[in-house]
Amino acid sequence: MNAKEIIQAEKQYVVQTYVRPEVLFTHGKGAVLTDSEGKEYLDFTSGIAVTALGHSDEAWVTAVAQQAAQLTHVSNLYHTAPHVQLAQKLVENSFADKVYFCNSGAEANEAAIKFAKKWKGLGIGDQGLEPSPSPQPPAPKIVAFSGGFHGRTVGALSVTYKSQYREPFAPLMPGVTFAEYNYLASAAAAMDAATCAVIVEPVQGEGGVNPATPEFLQGLRDLCDQHGALLIFDEVQCGLGRTGKLWAYEAYGVEPDIMTLAKPLAGGLPIGATLVTDEVAAAIKPGDHGSTFAAGPLVTAAANVVFDRVSQPAFLAQVQENGAYLKHRLETLESEEITAVRGSGLLIGVEMTGSVKPLIAAARDKGLMVINAGENVLRLAPPLIVTREEVDTAVNIIEACLS
Ligand SMILES: *Cc1c(COP(=O)(O)O)cnc(C)c1O
Repeated sequence: MNAKEIIQAEKQYVVQTYVRPEVLFTHGKGAVLTDSEGKEYLDFTSGIAVTALGHSDEAWVTAVAQQAAQLTHVSNLYHTAPHVQLAQKLVENSFADKVYFCNSGAEANEAAIKFAKKWKGLGIGDQGLEPSPSPQPPAPKIVAFSGGFHGRTVGALSVTYKSQYREPFAPLMPGVTFAEYNYLASAAAAMDAATCAVIVEPVQGEGGVNPATPEFLQGLRDLCDQHGALLIFDEVQCGLGRTGKLWAYEAYGVEPDIMTLAKPLAGGLPIGATLVTDEVAAAIKPGDHGSTFAAGPLVTAAANVVFDRVSQPAFLAQVQENGAYLKHRLETLESEEITAVRGSGLLIGVEMTGSVKPLIAAARDKGLMVINAGENVLRLAPPLIVTREEVDTAVNIIEACLS
């Protein structure tokens, strides 16, 4: 099949959950993608903030090829080394004491929701609170936020804000209240003694690249402590070096009880992780949750390569430097179409006066892949290994596409 035939066949054989442009990618190296015509594109999407080391990173390819030749899958019924090595690294470099692995961001949030409900049900967080007057504790409630995105499975979808994503699938999980992002009073009003968790992205990705304010995250921490609720940071998109810190929460000095990770963790292979404190882990017993594929030796061998590279201070400093340069260049673009430039590290949103779809198509024609975050925000999320020259090329293309 040639490229045209493949693009035709996709419409016939694949459920149409995505609208894809008429491009067929065949290979990639670093920050560059190549299509079936041999045309090259600078990839400022990283497959939605996934390919942190770029395409076909040499050490990553070697680790995956060696592990595939050695052992790919035995299921979670048995021990394997890369699984435990990755867990140890995540724990030793974060607030967390233990890790639960799964296969995607949505699944990481599903685990976070289940863990919070079980923890609340056991009353572990209730010390110091008024004892519940009824013998049957009230059903656990979760607070989520406007603009928040947490995934497409039923539990994760229930805490995802966009009604267009949720409404066709009602009824979803009960007990969810949406408060206003970066508006602490609305979170306070939504919480009570039945609240088991507050789930929030320290920097919203899909919602338009919106960083939380420090007062907001600190206020949520305090509210959770007051009400005996767990604070869940969804760092599926903003975590693991994307903002120039290993974890986005580091910039705020506020630690969660649970943090979810996924997108970049295995450099392009499917993985998710739910990081928890010992107090949360203590609520979870064998049989409470599980996954057939999770944390197999292949994905975790890949993730060990990603983590070892991204967690190096010099690597993170480079992300900060190139990210600041990208943001500065975008801020100095002279266009009446641009209303704001937001974000940190290599997750930058450019808010425009109208839909960014035409700009995305025009940039693609000129050899730059970018994506949107909502209707009016252009999202730049290049691989973390992007060079200053590549940043210049990308911004020059964007400039040429602006009227
Ligand atoms: C992408 C994303 C998810 C969902 O991850 P999947 O791997 O697509 O299930 C959850 N939370 C955030 C913040 C995301 O950006």
